Amino acid sequence: MERLQKILAQAGVASRRKCEELILAGQVQVNGEPVTTLGVKADPAVDVITVNGRAIRNEKKLYLMLNKPKGVITSAKDPQGRKIVSDYLPGIKERVYPVGRLDYDTEGLLLLTNDGEFANLLTHPSHHVPKTYMATVKGVPHGTSLEKLQNGIQLEDGMTAPAEVEYHDVDTDKKQATITITIYEGRNRQVRRMFDAISHPVTRLKRIKFGDLLLQNLARGTYRHLTEKEVQELR
Ligand code: URA
Repeated sequence: MERLQKILAQAGVASRRKCEELILAGQVQVNGEPVTTLGVKADPAVDVITVNGRAIRNEKKLYLMLNKPKGVITSAKDPQGRKIVSDYLPGIKERVYPVGRLDYDTEGLLLLTNDGEFANLLTHPSHHVPKTYMATVKGVPHGTSLEKLQNGIQLEDGMTAPAEVEYHDVDTDKKQATITITIYEGRNRQVRRMFDAISHPVTRLKRIKFGDLLLQNLARGTYRHLTEKEVQELR
């Protein structure tokens, strides 16, 4: 048995707070009876839970990690017919959706779930989940340039929060460097824009860590289920 607002949020109806409002507004029913107070518990496996008469989705909760290849779009459909992440989830019948996004050309760790509350929690700006990327960039940035990234840099949508930045590999022959960068925000194309701002554009970007979760040696284009412990640690 779980609190109704938690069940609703997990089913992707809305955030837990919004679901409380729906309950108080009399828009939620359990087995046909309206519930208008908070604190009521239900069993999603047994009770029929409806919002304005429509049954909520009641699937088994899945938590997956995909090693997304580059050249794949992080959305459910692509009108241009490009590859989408669900092409890499054979055997998954449930509709899972990505926790945040990776650009078309970015590879690496992408979480997918059908637990709406989990996804909201991890992508909410106040949650500040650290995300670590390996960025290969043109040229070898000077230490002072990396310090700028570390301290926060002005982008068109405002200053970035402090990041952690380290050299991973410097290849003077190829005139490129690979930098490990950890950011605590999730703005659109943020890492690419941060390196653009120091005039070292990114040529390859791979996410290797999300929260404490490491991609490790998961083969490119394959996925695995998270363990219960991993899910708990991310919450
Ligand atoms: N930052 C980017 O620039 N791209 C991504 O896909 C993720 C973070």
